[in-house]
Amino acid sequence: MKKWKVFLSLLLVLMFMSTSVFAAAYPIKWITVRIDGKNVSVREVPVVMDGKQIHLDVPSYIIKAGYTYVPIRFVTERYGAKVDWIQQTNTAVVKTAKGTEIKLTINSRNVYVNGKKQVIPSDMVPKFTVFNYGTKKADGRTMVPLRFISELLGYEVGYDKAKGLPFINTPKQEEPSRGGSTAVNKVTEIKKEVVNGKEAIAVYKTANVKVNTSKLTNPQRLVFDLQSSILASGGGSYQYNISIGPVTKVRVSQFSSDVVRVVLDIADGEKNPEVELINNKDKLYIIPKGVASTPSKPNIIISLDPGHGGKDPGAVQNGINEKDINLLVGTKLNVALKNAGYDTLMTRDSDVYVDLKDRAELANSNEANVFISLHCNSFTSDGAKGIEVLYNPNRANSQQLAQMLLDELVKATGANNRGIKQRTDLAVLNQTTMPAALIEMGFISNKEEAEKLKDPSYQNKIVQAIVNGVEKYFSTYGK
Ligand SMILES: [Zn+2]
Repeated sequence: MKKWKVFLSLLLVLMFMSTSVFAAAYPIKWITVRIDGKNVSVREVPVVMDGKQIHLDVPSYIIKAGYTYVPIRFVTERYGAKVDWIQQTNTAVVKTAKGTEIKLTINSRNVYVNGKKQVIPSDMVPKFTVFNYGTKKADGRTMVPLRFISELLGYEVGYDKAKGLPFINTPKQEEPSRGGSTAVNKVTEIKKEVVNGKEAIAVYKTANVKVNTSKLTNPQRLVFDLQSSILASGGGSYQYNISIGPVTKVRVSQFSSDVVRVVLDIADGEKNPEVELINNKDKLYIIPKGVASTPSKPNIIISLDPGHGGKDPGAVQNGINEKDINLLVGTKLNVALKNAGYDTLMTRDSDVYVDLKDRAELANSNEANVFISLHCNSFTSDGAKGIEVLYNPNRANSQQLAQMLLDELVKATGANNRGIKQRTDLAVLNQTTMPAALIEMGFISNKEEAEKLKDPSYQNKIVQAIVNGVEKYFSTYGK
């Protein structure tokens, strides 16, 4: 009897241990590395490839902006690519077996893919990194952004929130077909078109193509594998800034010898994106659902400006970077406004630094109808709290827009009403040419309000209030 008890409790302990070990997130471990002559704290993480943790001779890591970096050796070892160095310019030339060539230069935003230039965010540039700086074990490596490289090479990359680890899934290798490719569809082009009154992604030329659809999460993506298809360009990977409903971007690549993969990037906060597929004579239509059922408001463009970003965190208090809240709310607002039938234009949709002048210029050159900037407030004491909306009195209708937004925000959140305030000194309010408002959504220096601003349901209230304010504004003043 006794023995059984001991055995059972041991079993329970073991069971508990093993479940807790497997369910636990990867421990957060910060290491100090030397980048650009400065000591920088980064989070050491292995990359999970097809379910296995990969540890290399120097660690991969995640920088503060959220990007994962791996030593360039990862690319050669794991993706079977060859790397050559151009010493004078610090450029790595990565060549894959499939013939894709990627040129990356240390500290440069310019990346060349098969000779075509792409500009990557400044937070994502390749970095020369010294590990164990100042010790005998000091070791320098060229580190490259994992996701960017992997996606170019046709791998799906995500971040497992539960485990706190980035992961990669290898494309399934198909049997090489004898006597060359038997693909019948040649994908020449992807465009935004309107079909049956709905906005759609049109994939040319794919007559009656067989499509395998799947969903990927963290971040959310919809994946369409077009069978028996090749890219007319012969390979590579392409990106289209097509946004329809929850779809923010469209990418296409040659996934395997006769499968073309189309990936739709989905906005954060969209829980269950769905599409309708229509096979046409010479194209495949992918129609995001729930887009056309809303009344369309043609040509009303709303420019959304999540304040700060990248190297500029905005206010930092109570464990919050202002830029993160601004982006979270901005991304949700983008989806909500699109669902309400508006066209939107975001000054940034990721954690990147964008110049104030460029934000205004983007709205001006696209002739946006209104400009809404999102910020959080902070103060030296904990006491200040509430919402205020800033506007420039020298811009027609800006005061009315600000007042309508404020009224809805206070009504929806119950926050302290700090009123609308005239500001002529803010670049986004005086360099924009359309009615503009800058919303200070609350004080992150106030503990209680900081907690609220982090809460997704409170963010949703803010989003809905802004949509209501915008609706009121346009129904009163027109475009
Ligand atoms: Zn701010």
